[in-house]
Amino acid sequence: MSAAFVIVGGGIAGVTCAETLSALCSDVKIILLAASGLIKTVVNFQQVSRTLESFQVEERPKTSLEEHCPNVEVVEKIVLSLNSEKNKIICSDGSEVVYKKLCICTGGRPKLIPGNNERVLGIRDVQSVVEFQKMLSNAKRLLVVGNGGIATELVHEIQGCEVIWAIKDSYITSTFVDAGAAQFFLPHLNNEKTTENLPSKRLKYVVDKDAKNSNAPVLGGALGPDWATSHEMSGSEKGPRSVFVEHCVEVKKVLTPEEFKKSQLKDVTPPGFRTAPPLPQETWPVYVELTNGTVYGCDFIVSATGIIPNSEIFLKGNKFDTSTDGYLNVNSRMETSVTDVYAAGDICSATWEWAPQWQQMHLWTQARQMGCYAAKCMAAALKVEEVQMDFCFELFAHVTVFFNFKVVLLGKFNAQGLGDDYEMLLRVTIGEEYVKAVLQDGRLVGAILIGETNLEETFENLILNAMDLTPFKEHLLNPNIDIEDFFD
Ligand code: FAD
Repeated sequence: MSAAFVIVGGGIAGVTCAETLSALCSDVKIILLAASGLIKTVVNFQQVSRTLESFQVEERPKTSLEEHCPNVEVVEKIVLSLNSEKNKIICSDGSEVVYKKLCICTGGRPKLIPGNNERVLGIRDVQSVVEFQKMLSNAKRLLVVGNGGIATELVHEIQGCEVIWAIKDSYITSTFVDAGAAQFFLPHLNNEKTTENLPSKRLKYVVDKDAKNSNAPVLGGALGPDWATSHEMSGSEKGPRSVFVEHCVEVKKVLTPEEFKKSQLKDVTPPGFRTAPPLPQETWPVYVELTNGTVYGCDFIVSATGIIPNSEIFLKGNKFDTSTDGYLNVNSRMETSVTDVYAAGDICSATWEWAPQWQQMHLWTQARQMGCYAAKCMAAALKVEEVQMDFCFELFAHVTVFFNFKVVLLGKFNAQGLGDDYEMLLRVTIGEEYVKAVLQDGRLVGAILIGETNLEETFENLILNAMDLTPFKEHLLNPNIDIEDFFD
């Protein structure tokens, strides 16, 4: 088998890359190698503002891509290795695929806490969510480790179960927000915010109803927005969840009940939680010792501490430059250090000189943007043409929902990399909105907008235009001034 363009991975990055290549080079053969017959497709894409995007994601059979991209063939195969000297991919069934240009979009898998215990679960794909639901339905207490988006959504969605949330930072959701915003969210950890007039999450994840019944993919693509709200998340108890947050800790050890008994360690009960394992059990099915010495028993553990890139198979026998944690380094044309090999999405590490207000995060939006841009670069390389860096890499922009609040993150929203050389303006209405503007040299460089602030487009423009706001600073967050009119 051979094709001018070969792409590995049926997630958002791989599928977007195939679709864009198909549009740019309609007479060139493209092969997409996907580990499962179900691939991710972006639907209802809308450019909401210059950098904010809105789209939904559906999991669809591979034929849906072939129907609207006739020069794309989706081949269900697991890739085993790469021979970059011969421009050849080797698959698990022994077949070989020869390419002129290759794009690796194999994403990542959950980084699990050490211990190899079957009661430690990572969440990545539909299959792992189904497994999680099964374990949760019989659970009275679970421990969630991690402080990013997955952990936050999980803790918020679970009902009928006690949840211990172990985080390494001094405040919750640190990957996305600052300590102030975390404080704003805290009252909603155990109490529900009303869902009336809720902003709809701009990115929506839809699981094809057949997906759950299909042969489970060997390596499913990452889930994405709305994964938690679209799945039943109930433990064995009736009523709401109770959440206890254990700050500034990591997991030291995971113990089986036998190891726990032998260890002479004593487990503790968070305030307000049941005091003993449920009868007729005498022990919890698993115990966790934290770095602060505290030991908790629970039914199972969810490890949401980031991902490991699926890059090992490509590294064997090929000279890829990688980041220290194994991501494939790509330059400003999405090229890896190996000739004719590109990479996009969660698998890659962007090593070009970033625009001042952009940063890489492993997010759905960036997987789509990188897949699209990699395709433009591959097509240009084949036609020996120049390519311009996409505008989407000018400003980091992300919309999500945490604790039923719309959350918009722009630019250096957490003052990343600014040291002490910045100024912060804040407007908070408890239970309603949290607005933080980050300024450097009088210019807006980042923002966190929580709630229905309607400030995103104006703030985006102010960041992109790098306007000196020194004369207007005190009015910037004044709720009585319509800031849009102010700058018109
Ligand atoms: P993936 O989606 O991981 O796709 C990789 C593909 O490669 C898979 O189809 C896999 O089967 C295939 N593959 C791997 N190895 C091989 C092989 N050897 N041979 C053949 N195929 C192979 N992002 C957001 O923006 N907002 C969110 O709210 C959000 N929530 C998330 C919640 C969860 C639970 C998770 C897990 C992720 C979430 N993300 C979110 C992140 C987002 O889903 C990822 O950034 C995005 O899906 C990455 O896309 P990708 O195409 O690079 O990788």
